Amino acid sequence: MTEITNSLVHISVKGVVQGVGFRPFVFQLAQKHDLNGWVANTSEDVKIEVEGDPAKIEAFVSDLRTKAPPLSHIENITSAPGIPTGYDKFEIRNSIAEAGKYQLISPDIATCPQCLHEIFNPLDRRHLYPFTNCTNCGPRFTIIKDIPYDRPLTTMRDFEMCPACQAEYENPADRRFHAQPNACPECGPHLELVDVQGRAVEIDIEYDNIFTKSAQLLDDGKILAVKGLGGFLLACDATNDGAVNTLRVRKRRSSKPFAVMMASIAEVRKHCEINEEEAKLLKSPAAPIVLVKWKTSSTIANAVAPGLKYLGVMLPYTPLHHLLVRFTCKPLVMTSGNLSEEPIAKDNDEALRRLGGIADYFLMHNRDIYARYDDSVAIYESGSPRIVRRARGYAPFPVKLPYQSRQILACGAEEKNTFCLARENYAFVSQHIGDMENMETLEHYVNTLELYQKLLKITPQIIAADMHPEYLPTKYAKELAAKENLPLVSVQHHHAHIAACMADNGITDRVIGVALDGTGYGTDGKIWGGEFLVADYHGFEHLAHLEYLPLPGGSQAIKKPYRTAAGYLLALGITLNSSLPLMQYLPDEELSIIRDQVTKNLNAPQTSSMGRLFDAVAALTGVRGVIDYEAQAAIDLESCAASATGETSTYPYALTIQDGMTIIKLFDLFTAIIKDIHARIRKETVAARFHNTVSALVVDVCRDISAKTGLKKAALSGGVFQNRLLFSKTVNLLVLAGFQVYTHHQVPCNDGGISLGQAAVAEHK
Ligand code: ZN
Ligand code: ZN
Ligand code: FE
Repeated sequence: MTEITNSLVHISVKGVVQGVGFRPFVFQLAQKHDLNGWVANTSEDVKIEVEGDPAKIEAFVSDLRTKAPPLSHIENITSAPGIPTGYDKFEIRNSIAEAGKYQLISPDIATCPQCLHEIFNPLDRRHLYPFTNCTNCGPRFTIIKDIPYDRPLTTMRDFEMCPACQAEYENPADRRFHAQPNACPECGPHLELVDVQGRAVEIDIEYDNIFTKSAQLLDDGKILAVKGLGGFLLACDATNDGAVNTLRVRKRRSSKPFAVMMASIAEVRKHCEINEEEAKLLKSPAAPIVLVKWKTSSTIANAVAPGLKYLGVMLPYTPLHHLLVRFTCKPLVMTSGNLSEEPIAKDNDEALRRLGGIADYFLMHNRDIYARYDDSVAIYESGSPRIVRRARGYAPFPVKLPYQSRQILACGAEEKNTFCLARENYAFVSQHIGDMENMETLEHYVNTLELYQKLLKITPQIIAADMHPEYLPTKYAKELAAKENLPLVSVQHHHAHIAACMADNGITDRVIGVALDGTGYGTDGKIWGGEFLVADYHGFEHLAHLEYLPLPGGSQAIKKPYRTAAGYLLALGITLNSSLPLMQYLPDEELSIIRDQVTKNLNAPQTSSMGRLFDAVAALTGVRGVIDYEAQAAIDLESCAASATGETSTYPYALTIQDGMTIIKLFDLFTAIIKDIHARIRKETVAARFHNTVSALVVDVCRDISAKTGLKKAALSGGVFQNRLLFSKTVNLLVLAGFQVYTHHQVPCNDGGISLGQAAVAEHK
């Protein structure tokens, strides 16, 4: 027999490799290849030492890469030879904490099929246990307080494992080997059902369990506050009009759509038309809310999403949700547990206090939630999934940057706020924080920022913020920069949108940036929102925009699109004929005030906003004159246009050049729309023609800029591109015109993506 000379190799694996069953996988792999040594989590990677036959070590390393567990995400494997020490076994060692080091943290993952099978199996010891999880699924980011990711540093520290769970935890062949949140009915967190006073609801255990009781309450039309992963959700029977309306009144949310949780894809198909890609997105480990076509035959109450063609649907993502939905046998409204505009409630006392006026009962448990986390929202459009709200299941997974970054904090925009922390080639965009309008949201912002900085070991050297002086995150950035004596980089809003789109796509060269949104502070102090830039991370040139028109009453006009429409027509010198559908919204006194505001330039800020142009057209055509939630008029106009299939004509508009700037003039557009209205053309047709016009206009201006600059890359960003009809039309036309088109995939095109763009620009300033 020939003597085998053993080698020893040190290996470092970086990426999402903790809390995803990576060490058990390494352990089993070492056994398979007959190698000794050890594996351990550190604060920055998984470290491995293997000793044995060199050929077997090679096979081991190759398997590490190709056979890694499904939820892991390997960024990098490095190895270096060492001196064999004569290990006699392979073991999993305790985690090694190192100061200043960090690692990627897995988002929370929807319940896996095996765990699901166990909770519905009467013979399993986890039958009906709502906190079942394993290395392939369960909470991660919402329970982690610090790294390395080990039970004592999670909110599971209060629950000591029973012998059975401990045995699973220690058995390398078990699915729960080193599953940090491992729990069972013996030793883990427990549910309780209480009323608004916090008193336990009596359950006759001979006939009922907590789920049959909860289901009965939901069936009776009651509203339940359910403690989920990242906070409380409010649940009610989605097929019960009365219950849904009660929820609306109590939550003070008059018509903004609610999301619905359904038991299975089969159930979703009863209510919605979904394609295979949408089904895949619904079933993905992130399990987001997906906006899908709502069937007219669906029994879901209209009040769930009044007047809308798309319904936000999600599948259950924790055992608790699976059990609740299964026992109720009905689709359930699941909406964040808060009053409109406030952050989601996360603690039991906080929930009883803040949600006492909304929920009738509380289904809650004794495991703390460390990070507040909303449900994510996604769509499948033009060949790819796109994120509308990025939170559970996605954050804090980073966007990989096409450059090396210093440690930067970008504070984000005011609406749909996220912040972004960058280091090396990663940008960590926070989960959706919300609209920064009140102290509670600011507190959520500061707490989340602290957690991210602690976990990612980031001490910002540069602070980035929007140019808008009144944005709360901008004020926060200024204070922080002054306090810490750090440079503050002000980034123009639409430049940030385009930079975000570039970073999202990993590109670094100059692009034609098309930024269409509602509101952004311009370098001239005006309200921008229909902008064409030539941009890279270093800077931008502003080359074209919609012409400036007045918003009579400023923010008032945003809530009442008819004011915008009237202001635009008056400023353009177009007569407000009394037969226009717009006039139904406009009392005479208000019209004379608007006329004053416009002619005397009183409280009528100038805007080039594309969002406001959609508002104006929605009001002009009588589609919607007043809104209850952001972008409602544009959403209605899109729905309207979508029903005029096959309409291809466009309205005229004019491009003029002033001091090298292309101005898109709207007089011709408005007069043509009014002509159509007088000719009794259906509003669906008018809406479709308007959408066609905006797409054509974008391509026209891009062609123009391309001719001047030679650029062929177009990056589309801004909340207006959430309009699926406009988005798909524009992308198609740009591709036909020979452009390489870049759109968002990892972060939203709306202001939720702004922080990423700010971080990219700040690094290059
Ligand atoms: Zn599982
Ligand atoms: Zn146990
Ligand atoms: Fe924006």
